[in-house]
Amino acid sequence: MSDKVVIFDTTLRDGEQTPGASLNVDEKLQIAQSLERLNVDVIEAGFPFASRGDFEAVRAVAREIRTPQIAGLARAYEKDIDACWEAVREATQPRIHTFISTSDIHLKYQMKKSREEVLEMAVAAVKHAAGYTSNVEFSAMDASRSDLAYVAQVFTAVIDAGAKTLNFPDTVGYGIPEEFGAKIKYLMEHIPNIHKAVISVHCHNDLGLAVANTLAAIANGARQVEVTINGIGERAGNASMEEVVMALATRKDLFSYYTDIVTQYIFPTSRLVSKLTGVVVQPNKAIVGANAFAHESGIHQDAVLKEASTFEIMTPTAVGIKKSTLPLGKLSGRHAFKKKLQEMGHYLNDDELNRVFFQFKDLADRKKTVFDEDLVSLVETEVIYKSVPEHFRLLELVVLTGTTVKPNANIKMEVGGEVKSFSTFGDGPIDATFRAITHLAQSKCKLLKFVVSSITGGTEALGEVSVRLEEEGQIVTGQGVDPDVVTASARAYINGLNRLKFSKEMGPKKGKPEEL
Ligand code: MN
Repeated sequence: MSDKVVIFDTTLRDGEQTPGASLNVDEKLQIAQSLERLNVDVIEAGFPFASRGDFEAVRAVAREIRTPQIAGLARAYEKDIDACWEAVREATQPRIHTFISTSDIHLKYQMKKSREEVLEMAVAAVKHAAGYTSNVEFSAMDASRSDLAYVAQVFTAVIDAGAKTLNFPDTVGYGIPEEFGAKIKYLMEHIPNIHKAVISVHCHNDLGLAVANTLAAIANGARQVEVTINGIGERAGNASMEEVVMALATRKDLFSYYTDIVTQYIFPTSRLVSKLTGVVVQPNKAIVGANAFAHESGIHQDAVLKEASTFEIMTPTAVGIKKSTLPLGKLSGRHAFKKKLQEMGHYLNDDELNRVFFQFKDLADRKKTVFDEDLVSLVETEVIYKSVPEHFRLLELVVLTGTTVKPNANIKMEVGGEVKSFSTFGDGPIDATFRAITHLAQSKCKLLKFVVSSITGGTEALGEVSVRLEEEGQIVTGQGVDPDVVTASARAYINGLNRLKFSKEMGPKKGKPEEL
């Protein structure tokens, strides 16, 4: 058996099922490009039958991303599989991923079907998919709570029907490493035609064991793992790619398995996913959290300075975390600027580069030192957040506030090409600003969340604002960056309004599938 572990990234499918993490086509493409640089083997780009937006996104990823295989998810129905094939067919190596539940509890309460009926449906679905491509994956939903002998029976039958990858998901995050590993071992030993297929696992983190279960599965014969960046996904999320990959890479003494991931792209990808989904990475998150490589204890600090391996089992640079060394100044040239951005994992086209460079010059005029983090923010503002059409655009903002005046905001905005102004009071400067924007945009949205953070530190740091907005069931995240926190807030709010408008135009989701 090969020692290579296939990395199947489902950030764009399961990860996107994180509440409020909806991504549009452009955002999915940006993440897919980042995943391609990471060198993942398979990208699950979405669930094409779920909505027009999902379909378009999967098709766009299939058309543009050339190196990884591109998978789409489909329930075990012909119409799902047809839509899935239509969406992935233009990929270099398309994959259809079809699934059905195998646990008695799902069969009885959710599907109201017998084991025989489900077995028949699974075989029929795989045969239908295999009519389109030889690259078919089958998943037994809620496998970890299913009767193992029955799962083995279903897997044997679907291999005969043409499935090349068999996924054993811990859909509800119920598994315990030793037990979960033993289940994989059982499958390896009880499926007579297993040599024709690869066993995969898809672990959820409800008990905080997704990565541990995934590693246990690898040790027992699984050679594909379904993971997400930052571990995002339904409920407590999925096994985190960076943790699985770095565990294998760091403990080479223990594991003979390897992945093809280019680990230096882990951190830039983590940051991109966090920004676009609006799902913040906790500071103590392994590998990519802000504190993952911060040593607080004096004894540790002293030792790490003398010899990093005393308390560091891996280096920050191995996962693409760069020290803030830059200070790019006003006089830095365009070429050096481009090279710096590439080192940081941002590959921009000429038009994007020009826009960011212009903003960089502007920032360098206003701020003494421009740090790496500031550059990342500029890229995010100019390139990443502008991935939706700008129906609303901030032109001018004047705010009056203090201890002895009633806060007032005076705003000039472009609304669908028309310039409009409005002035109003509020409880504070941000409240006044948001009221004025709401009035001009004629919006009925609700502000669910408002987070201000500062990049780098010190009073001249850039303010970074994230808002979450909801209207008629659609939830979006808006982002804004500016040296002025009130302006950053206005940008974030307007960005959110543009996203709301855009996602309404993309049409509502038909509802997500039963979760894998
Ligand atoms: Mn899942």
